[in-house]
Amino acid sequence: MYSCNSCHKIYRHAASLYNHTTFDCGKPKRFSCSIPGCPYKSKRHNNVKQHMRLKHVLRSESNIVSPHPSIIC
Ligand SMILES: [Zn+2]
Ligand SMILES: [Zn+2]
Repeated sequence: MYSCNSCHKIYRHAASLYNHTTFDCGKPKRFSCSIPGCPYKSKRHNNVKQHMRLKHVLRSESNIVSPHPSIIC
């Protein structure tokens, strides 16, 4: 078992602890959802990608609500 020195979470694998200390522990949530108005933030880029898939179901790209609708000339 491996435990984090900072928050004492316990991991079974050294790699999991490494991921935790590198990407999670004490890290600010650096990645935020790119959908305007969505407050979602995460420490991991992958989480944001998953959030985008789950919460803003990308049926078609034109479904994304934008405050600046593209002008078709
Ligand atoms: Zn920790
Ligand atoms: Zn979002």
